[in-house]
Amino acid sequence: MDIEFKNLINLQQIDEKLIEVSHFLDEVPSKLNRIDKKIEDSFKIVTKAEDKLTANQKRRRDVESEVQDMKTLISKYKRQLSDVRTNKEYTSLLHEIAETENKGDSLEEEIISEMLKADDIEEEIKSATQKAGEAKTKFTKEKEALLKKKAEQEELKANLLKEKEELLPNIPSDQITLYNKISVNSNGISLSPVTGEFCSMCHMRIRPQVLNELKAENSIILCENCGRILHF
Ligand SMILES: [Zn+2]
Repeated sequence: MDIEFKNLINLQQIDEKLIEVSHFLDEVPSKLNRIDKKIEDSFKIVTKAEDKLTANQKRRRDVESEVQDMKTLISKYKRQLSDVRTNKEYTSLLHEIAETENKGDSLEEEIISEMLKADDIEEEIKSATQKAGEAKTKFTKEKEALLKKKAEQEELKANLLKEKEELLPNIPSDQITLYNKISVNSNGISLSPVTGEFCSMCHMRIRPQVLNELKAENSIILCENCGRILHF
């Protein structure tokens, strides 16, 4: 195998690593977004429970104020009792008082029920806050690990690019042109090692005559199926 061809194989190896590194680096922003979203979501559950408590407290205040209105109304009716002239008016007022008291009682029950609900919601907030805290710790660690790997891969990419830059002048330009041309249509893989009698990239059997030519090692031979540069 001549020296240029060996360099071409090296170039392919560098490019394959570069494809892998670039693929990883391309995915990093969306991975980071997904992690942030998970942290955000766990805090949204807390906010939702807190909103529920706010609504519960408002409802309780409203009902308490209604109860207060009922009490004022009952006092007013009771004062009126001494002023009424007829039995009919008296009975009707007593009826009003009883009805208002009944309404007041059911409102008091509602207040108790809201208070019980508030206890449950407070538990819910506590548990959601704890879970959100745990999620934040877990996902922050995940994020740090990812950013560390990102830095490593960026360094690797820089080294690979430097290596490639140093290698390119050692390869004849017509080989590089061919290599690049094949690369565009072959997902960045221009070379294919021969395994047995097959092109390892497209798995096509290579004709014996082509294999013999390849064994002679004096020219570049392309796979008749996928068009990649064959080598042993
Ligand atoms: Zn092939």
